[in-house]
Amino acid sequence: MTCYLDNAATTKPCREAVVEITRMLTEEYGNPSSVHRMGMRAERELKKARKTVAAALGCEAESVYFTSGGTESDNWAIFSAAQAMGRKGRHIITTQVEHHAVLNPVRELERQGFEVTYLAPQRDGTVSVKALSDALRPDTVLVSVMLANNESGAVMPVMDMVRAVRAAKCPALFHTDAVQALFKMPLDVKLLGVDLLSVSGHKIHGPKGIGALYIRKGLRLKPMFYGGGQEGGLRSGTEPMPQIAGFAAACTAAQKSLLKDIAQMKELRDYAVLNIRKALPEAVLPGAMQSPHIIPLALPGIRSQGIINCLQDRDVYVSSGSACSRGKRSHVLEAMGLSASELDGAVRISLSRFTEKEELDAMIKALVAAKAQMSGS
Ligand code: PLP
Repeated sequence: MTCYLDNAATTKPCREAVVEITRMLTEEYGNPSSVHRMGMRAERELKKARKTVAAALGCEAESVYFTSGGTESDNWAIFSAAQAMGRKGRHIITTQVEHHAVLNPVRELERQGFEVTYLAPQRDGTVSVKALSDALRPDTVLVSVMLANNESGAVMPVMDMVRAVRAAKCPALFHTDAVQALFKMPLDVKLLGVDLLSVSGHKIHGPKGIGALYIRKGLRLKPMFYGGGQEGGLRSGTEPMPQIAGFAAACTAAQKSLLKDIAQMKELRDYAVLNIRKALPEAVLPGAMQSPHIIPLALPGIRSQGIINCLQDRDVYVSSGSACSRGKRSHVLEAMGLSASELDGAVRISLSRFTEKEELDAMIKALVAAKAQMSGS
């Protein structure tokens, strides 16, 4: 049995997405910009998909702009917001625990002369509203705080943070990276009150290479790409219809049983945590465990790559910190104050709505075997 427990890195595309992708590749391959029947059919598919993704986010279809994924959405939001607001001020606030798709664009803006405050997380991985309020300045033009963290599973109080920014009469635009939050918690952009929000298709059982940026109605940003004027002139390029339709199909499928799936993931997460604690009393399980799908785990004294290899030999797949930071210590767990040996032995187990109890049992068995093998006991 393959135990795929690396769903925060990427997910298996669901059947509904695969069906839609195949249909678009083989039947509806017209260009939505073409003015013949096939083009118009493709355009209808595009409209339908945009409406579906908008419904998942709780906004109007015109506020959804398709991108190539979470990284592009984050980059576009950050660079264009900084550019749009640059005359009002040069101060940006983000957190130390953001994904590199946010941290690296912000670091680039810092090189370009913006001043950046990186908020530290608390021991449980969350960042407090007070920390943000204390950092706000009259010249703060952008706040970017993620909704759910991809390594710790911490959920940030984004709605209250947006309120704090507005109450402070600060001009800042608020961006949130919701890549790990979509379909892992009820999400409503209007309730959150954010100006910009990033999501990604391959984290929700959709295809890779597709994501979306929510841009609040009325907010005018610079285009990401210039060209044929697709996506309201803001993100030119022929729309990748198979990915777009697959992303929308994955949204529809996930929406159907959202609350039940969240409850089930939480139950399985708690089951795994309880049994890891029983089987490996020395295991460190840091953070507040708020996201239903992420279990950060450290086995002090054992290196994470070794754990991953041992697990892989048993067909169990997990990752060390975030999958994209191969071999490096997790900047998230480091900011949360974990010790060096905890950081070196950190792995991330991540669930999906398709995860089964037997997979978690196999993972725990494999962890115990890995520990015995690696500590020679
Ligand atoms: N933001 C977060 C929180 C993520 O977890 C990821 C992916 O790991 C990204 C952004 C990047 O998304 P994508 O892989 O779609 O570019």
